[in-house]
Amino acid sequence: MYQDLFELHEQLLKALANSKRLEIVHLLRDQELSVTDIYTMLDLPQANISQHLMVLKEAGVVHTSRVGKQIIYRLAHPHIIQASDLMREMLLAQHQQQNLTDAVALKMKDLVPLVHDPVCGMRLSPKTAGFSMDYADKTYYFCASGCLKAFQKEAKKYV
Ligand SMILES: [Zn+2]
Repeated sequence: MYQDLFELHEQLLKALANSKRLEIVHLLRDQELSVTDIYTMLDLPQANISQHLMVLKEAGVVHTSRVGKQIIYRLAHPHIIQASDLMREMLLAQHQQQNLTDAVALKMKDLVPLVHDPVCGMRLSPKTAGFSMDYADKTYYFCASGCLKAFQKEAKKYV
């Protein structure tokens, strides 16, 4: 089992070794999403997203359920996002030339969701939001590039 586990670990990391798939995992942090939701949030071709979701599903990263015609995705285990957060904290520390304790302290505080993405309604913290934009003297935060694009196109619709 000791050796088998390394092989399973490798397979899991291979499934996660793609920036868009990591972004999908983070979108699923504390919510379930349909393919359409993910498509809107990421602004990627739907075929492309379906393929990423298939990889994540086969690796056991996400589970699916069917609601009517929609397939709903959720994280298979909360440890997935915790493991990813730990790696991001390490990267943050390396890039900010800070020690890890500072980065962790920053992370815990900044993870608290304070704002809503005006397009999809996802709860975000300003630090974990993918994108932000100033509009009419206010800063708006977005989960990913798809929502930012929708907002840029027609901000009036969302404020
Ligand atoms: Zn969004």
